[in-house]
Amino acid sequence: MNKEYLSCDIIEYGFDAQTDAINLCCRISGDSLGETFKLIPDYHGEKIDWNDFFEKKQKIRDIHKQGEIFKPCTGCLYLREESWDDEKCIKTVNINNWIKCNADCVYCNRSSLKNIKEYKIFPVFKDMIEKNLLKKGGPITISGGEPTVIREFDKLLNLFLKNNLTNIKVLTNAIKYNKTIERGLKNGNVNILVSTDSGTKETYKKIKRINKHYQVWKNIKKYAETSKYPELVKTKFIIIPGLNDNKNELFEFIKQNSINSIKYTELDLEISWFYSHREDKTNFEAIYELYQFARQKAQEASIILEAKDRMLLLLQDLNKD
Ligand code: SF4
Ligand code: SF4
Repeated sequence: MNKEYLSCDIIEYGFDAQTDAINLCCRISGDSLGETFKLIPDYHGEKIDWNDFFEKKQKIRDIHKQGEIFKPCTGCLYLREESWDDEKCIKTVNINNWIKCNADCVYCNRSSLKNIKEYKIFPVFKDMIEKNLLKKGGPITISGGEPTVIREFDKLLNLFLKNNLTNIKVLTNAIKYNKTIERGLKNGNVNILVSTDSGTKETYKKIKRINKHYQVWKNIKKYAETSKYPELVKTKFIIIPGLNDNKNELFEFIKQNSINSIKYTELDLEISWFYSHREDKTNFEAIYELYQFARQKAQEASIILEAKDRMLLLLQDLNKD
């Protein structure tokens, strides 16, 4: 058995495609916010030299094997002690290289990237699968821009489904209903997360800058009805102070989940707000109160509400659970 050491699934088996690079990681949870390590800088869809890719990753693995922490990972909540195997493969995937979207969320940086040319990711995964480098288990996360408006998305998701890959998570705004997602939900290999960040149409419009509140909840419901398991369709509420940080909005959000038969939801905190307030913790107690309120309302409606990422860090900072 291998010796246990502190590492994470991304260090060991990750692949993170961004708009202009293949990064080590997209989970910004280490102490060094913004310091993303580029495994392949200046990347625009070229053929990947996998030996070189795994060599770079091995160097990071070795730092952890020696009991140290790779600097950008300092303080990350995803680090865990485990007896990691030595296999050179990819399991934890993040596809975040697309830009196009049919919404315009206030907290999203995609609109500032409009001049960047999107590259195709399908050939990269085809090559990865042909070389037997992509292993079952996931998570495979498909996100931005909005997958359902990207031309190669259906082809890519079909490739994953055809190869029987599991734990494929699609982050979609659900403005557009997608039949391939429906197929994946039906066979249980796909799960979706829809961040509405609101429960009323007014706040939805303020945050997403498009008037699609009713359409989105209708599509969420339709996805939930076709899904093999209820936990495959989740919603999310990102608290954005000044926009949706009030009990009424959270109450309406839980109500929408209840009306539309959604049993699982997540609560997070807007990333730039969190990090710009982390030092002095201004309003952290007020956010905690909202979290408790949402948790109580969710419980009353038999909905499982989970604190995620920044919300988890806030709870950690306040010594609460
Ligand atoms: S330890 Fe954290 S920051 Fe480092 S690769 Fe893993 S998830 Fe990313
Ligand atoms: S739906 Fe996603 S990609 Fe589109 S604007 Fe909102 S956060 Fe950005």
